[in-house]
Amino acid sequence: MIPMSLGAILVLLVSVPLLITSVLALHYNFREIHRPSREKENIYKCTECDHVYAFARTRPMDRCPRCNHLNDAVRT
Ligand SMILES: [Zn+2]
Repeated sequence: MIPMSLGAILVLLVSVPLLITSVLALHYNFREIHRPSREKENIYKCTECDHVYAFARTRPMDRCPRCNHLNDAVRT
């Protein structure tokens, strides 16, 4: 067994999970940047005229392009 000091063991116990968390954060951040724009769109269904439309904005509600009625996002 390799003799290690208490300080070295503590540094390993803190730095290894921190390194793993950093690598995972970079991975998910990189994946979010290169996500296709279709997946960033919100889908809306108009409750007035049943028109289905999508906008690449992050709003919880948006206006229907046909009848101008305000609708909630069906899928975000
Ligand atoms: Zn409409």
